[in-house]
Amino acid sequence: MKIAIVGGGVAGASVAIYLRSLGADVTLFEKKRMLIAGPPACHLHAGGNLYPDVDDAQRLRLLRESIEFMRFYPQAIERRPTALAVPVHIPLDPEELERRALILSHAYGDLVAKDPKTKVLGEPEHYVLSFAHKQLMELQELPTPKVPQNHLEWMISFAKEVALAKLKYPVLLVQEFGINIFRLSAIAQLLLQDAPIHYGTKVVNAKHEGDGFGLTYEKDGKKYSERFDFLINAMGFESGYLDDWLGYKKSRFVEFKAAYIASYRQEHLYPEMIFHGIRGTDRGMAQFTPYPGGYYQLHGMRKDITLFEDGVAKSSKRSSQPKLPQKYIDWIKKGWPREVALHRTQRAIEYVARYIPDFLSAKPTPTPLYGAQQIPGDDLSLRAAEVSFEGDRYARCEIVKVSSILSMADAIVQKLITLGTLGPSQQGRRIYPEPLQEAKIDSLAKKIAKTRGYPEAMAKIAIPFCQL
Ligand SMILES: Cc1cc2nc3c(=O)[nH]c(=O)nc-3n(C[C@H](O)[C@H](O)[C@H](O)COP(=O)(O)OP(=O)(O)OC[C@H]3O[C@@H](n4cnc5c(N)ncnc54)[C@H](O)[C@@H]3O)c2cc1C
Repeated sequence: MKIAIVGGGVAGASVAIYLRSLGADVTLFEKKRMLIAGPPACHLHAGGNLYPDVDDAQRLRLLRESIEFMRFYPQAIERRPTALAVPVHIPLDPEELERRALILSHAYGDLVAKDPKTKVLGEPEHYVLSFAHKQLMELQELPTPKVPQNHLEWMISFAKEVALAKLKYPVLLVQEFGINIFRLSAIAQLLLQDAPIHYGTKVVNAKHEGDGFGLTYEKDGKKYSERFDFLINAMGFESGYLDDWLGYKKSRFVEFKAAYIASYRQEHLYPEMIFHGIRGTDRGMAQFTPYPGGYYQLHGMRKDITLFEDGVAKSSKRSSQPKLPQKYIDWIKKGWPREVALHRTQRAIEYVARYIPDFLSAKPTPTPLYGAQQIPGDDLSLRAAEVSFEGDRYARCEIVKVSSILSMADAIVQKLITLGTLGPSQQGRRIYPEPLQEAKIDSLAKKIAKTRGYPEAMAKIAIPFCQL
């Protein structure tokens, strides 16, 4: 059976790696010249602690899926924990957040007890630790280590540099790690180097052909047509176009968002720092995400920083493709106007500096990490989703967080088993890729960062997860 995957983002690339490891005949079409070069993903969300508004069932699912993601792509993981704080003016109770994080910690413990290979987030009893104001004041007296060696040491820079009086207590430290998107892109490209991938190829139409699909695609100014037996739509925020060509109705949102990059001193490593807030208001969550080389990625969940007044579009009765304002489509294709990028980055710096006062001296860089993502269905706050099907031969990838890729791939494998394309023995059989040479990942990840206009230093990781 000939399988086509349209879209080489994290969904399409991962399902290609997975299906090829099971021996399936897969062809991937990607309109860009590289894989996984769409919207960013810097947080693993191993427990969804950044989302107090999301129910515990979804958070448990994010935890389980993140663990599998780490086992699949261990070399893309930045092993630094996340400090979570609630500012005094935010109507959230940090003790309640701790209680909910402990539910995750117990669930993680259960997973580890059943299968020790799932122990990728450290000791379950250390999954969440809480810090009282007094403890943080005491940590201020200790020297800041360049590379923290334990949980207390990770909190020293937090204790010294954050405006502690602006926070409620306790402050939490959770084992939510980072993802390096440039390394993820390099790893996928290396794992798929012998695969039939049409880079720089845009699929421009699709039609039903017997019980399969005819795809029309454009490459180097020429049009081609080819028939496939099974079609995987992994076109990210543009998935609705393929649905429309085939006459499938599907509700979804598309949201345009951005994170910003600033340079700032780096005398030591910081944990990720999250200052909770109310999404979409001028008190939205602030996120400070460290990268090597003195670069910091910033989010402010306000409409003048990460979010945009007209940045959410919804599919309609006539079309499954939500229509974002053309301005954002142009930014995605051609890049941002420099002034807008610098202005929003400066706002992000000022917003984060409310909690980390010295950070006001950070310098904006002109290239945000940004893009549009799809959110299937009618609930804009949905965070864990994977795949839906039309009939037996059309799968639509619809992840919201990258950690859902393996649930997504499992569901597609299940469908292919039902069709007899894969044998029943493939059920639940997950093949984790062999580790790649670090030097190869490093060199390709740097090239990818540079080609995309980001500092090469951001392609490195400070604390490799693999050396755990
Ligand atoms: C600012 C921002 C921050 C985010 N942060 C996080 C985070 O911290 N953690 C997290 O888990 N998630 C995060 N996300 C969400 C995450 O980026 C998305 O869930 C993820 O990228 C979706 O992957 P995808 O493969 O489905 O889509 P995409 O990455 O969009 O990939 C779709 C691919 O299809 C290709 N394509 C589209 N149309 C065609 C066509 N006609 N022919 C050929 N190719 C085509 C595109 O070029 C693209 O490469 C963030 C999103 C944004 C916008």
